[in-house]
Amino acid sequence: MTKNLEEIEQFSQKLVDAYVRLEIRHQKLLENLELSHSVSHTAHDAIISVDGNGIVSRWNKGAALIFGYMEDEIIDQPVAKLIPQRYQQYYLDGIEQVNATGRSKHIGSVIEMPGIHKDGREIPLEISIATWSQKGNRYYAAVMRDITERKKSEIGNERVQQSRVAISSLLRIALEPISLEEQLEKALDVILSVPWLSLQSKGSIFLMDEEKNELVLIAHRGLAPHLLSACARLPMGYCLCGRAAQERKLIFSAHLDHRHDVTFDGIKPHGHYCVPVMINDKLLGVVNSYIPDGHERNPEETEFLQAMANTMAGLIERKQIEQKLEHIAHHDSLTGLPNRLLFMEHLTKQIARSRRENTLLSVLFMDLDKFKMVNDTMGHDIGDMLLKEVSARIKTCLRDSDVIARLGGDEFTVSLPFIANQEDAGLVAKKIISELEKPFFLKGNECNIGSSIGISILPVDGDSPEGLLKKADVAMYEVKKHGRNDYRFFENGMEKEEE
Ligand code: GH3
Ligand code: MG
Repeated sequence: MTKNLEEIEQFSQKLVDAYVRLEIRHQKLLENLELSHSVSHTAHDAIISVDGNGIVSRWNKGAALIFGYMEDEIIDQPVAKLIPQRYQQYYLDGIEQVNATGRSKHIGSVIEMPGIHKDGREIPLEISIATWSQKGNRYYAAVMRDITERKKSEIGNERVQQSRVAISSLLRIALEPISLEEQLEKALDVILSVPWLSLQSKGSIFLMDEEKNELVLIAHRGLAPHLLSACARLPMGYCLCGRAAQERKLIFSAHLDHRHDVTFDGIKPHGHYCVPVMINDKLLGVVNSYIPDGHERNPEETEFLQAMANTMAGLIERKQIEQKLEHIAHHDSLTGLPNRLLFMEHLTKQIARSRRENTLLSVLFMDLDKFKMVNDTMGHDIGDMLLKEVSARIKTCLRDSDVIARLGGDEFTVSLPFIANQEDAGLVAKKIISELEKPFFLKGNECNIGSSIGISILPVDGDSPEGLLKKADVAMYEVKKHGRNDYRFFENGMEKEEE
């Protein structure tokens, strides 16, 4: 009996010794863990222990702060309840690896993984785990730190970086020597691919048609085919984009609400950010992006999209000024017709093609007869109106491939590519003369005018743009000499006195 008692005492002493050793080891591990976790470990860090069956056995105040469970609520509970569903397999695989090999790549290193708070929300955590086995039993200890704030600022930094990249991409696109339409296509891609925005990869950019007071669809991505025609032109106030244009403010919709005028059978639920593109008080267009149905309006997103629209406004304005300058440099301001420069560019291309395809091309040189009289008797304004009307009437005699230009004063020129024979050029000249012979009615004044036309032909009269224009001019001069209001083909021997 005594012996038995002694044995029991010895045995319990061994148990106590083992327990103390275990405790010392456990404490050491925790200390090491805390040290490895961070030198600046605070009381807010969670320190927990878990047994080999995944049951929580220790729970400090930091853990209570982070997870919301008091010690008595969590001790003897499975640690799995602190782990999000999508990480459960990851956790089980880790345990299995430790059981099989005594280690795992996550043991001894710092990992980032979310935990689940008592109220169900996820908390981003930085976790260090240690494990050991004692007499065949496995134990784990973990130190965890709530890294919500750090994550927020990391996300913030990432967003700032992505936003910077997007803005600088827009600025780079603005400098590319491509058309405005191509620039807007690229700009749309940039906006739709900013990672932190919750945009779907669908959207469009409209430009304002000031004459018609409508939005015109210029660039689009991922739109259903019938939207391309339904949204090709949008009146002010129509649908969300028209509203953004009319109200000149960002329109947000979380769903397909009553303002979404354009719709069709089978339209998928979605929302929109429609952002006006403005420069000072001037509306240049609208950027339309799609968002998932039910997405909440996000101030950061609206601010960023507005910044993108402002940057795009600079791009559009720059390109539109360029286009205006380009137009001024190549067009006559009174009639809007191409000027000599643009005419020569077209003629050069047409001549090259005619030579390649072995076809005839004709150049008409036209000068109005006694035009000064109109100015002198009716005034310069009526003279201007007549020049505009003349250009409109000449156009009615031409095909799409023909090019008409005003060379200056009362001189016009026309190129007729791909004519079947020389006589066709004569027929066009005749038609123009008879169109212009009809009286013009300008501000209540009847005005009659004649016109003289000279004609040159490629290849018989040469193959240079300047040469062909010159010979047509010489032939026109011949018409003037012989009574006006007629046409003539260039012939060798014809000459024009230099003015
Ligand atoms: P001709 O029959 O020989 O061609 O004589 P013309 O009176 O038509 O005179 P000409 O072709 O030699 O000169 C054209 C005139 O057109 C000269 C100028 O007074 C006038 N003119 C030139 N540019 C403009 C313009 O922009 N507006 C108006 N109203 N008149 C112009
Ligand atoms: Mg004249």
